[in-house]
Amino acid sequence: MSDCIFCKIAAGEIPANFIYQDDEVVAFKDTNPQAPVHILIIPKKHVANILEADEALLGTLFGKVKKIAASQGLSEKGFRTVVNTGDDGGQTVHHLHLHLLGGRFMQWPPG
Ligand code: AMP
Ligand code: ZN
Repeated sequence: MSDCIFCKIAAGEIPANFIYQDDEVVAFKDTNPQAPVHILIIPKKHVANILEADEALLGTLFGKVKKIAASQGLSEKGFRTVVNTGDDGGQTVHHLHLHLLGGRFMQWPPG
């Protein structure tokens, strides 16, 4: 999608601090980190959110978590994965993305 910031990042048209990429997915550091490690994992293909994603794409996205978390040193102490969806979910960028947060204890419940 032409005016989507995450499509532009996936296409290499605007810079990001990439930590992983393959044919279907890219992962990069969040510019407003909420934890010592805060990575966004996104499909290269534009899909607005979970409501528009099929099971295979969601499986692909979540399937990358284990190795990306390991690459960030998060396997031992754990991490949190979050996917905000729509207005009540607090989604601000309307291109599906999975937040991977770690490096500190995560409170529950979230605000
Ligand atoms: P959400 O509220 O789930 O839609 O999260 C969007 C996230 O994207 C926020 O955590 C932002 O800090 C992050 N973000 C927005 N623009 C960029 C960018 N250009 N590069 C990296 N992260 C970004
Ligand atoms: Zn997009």
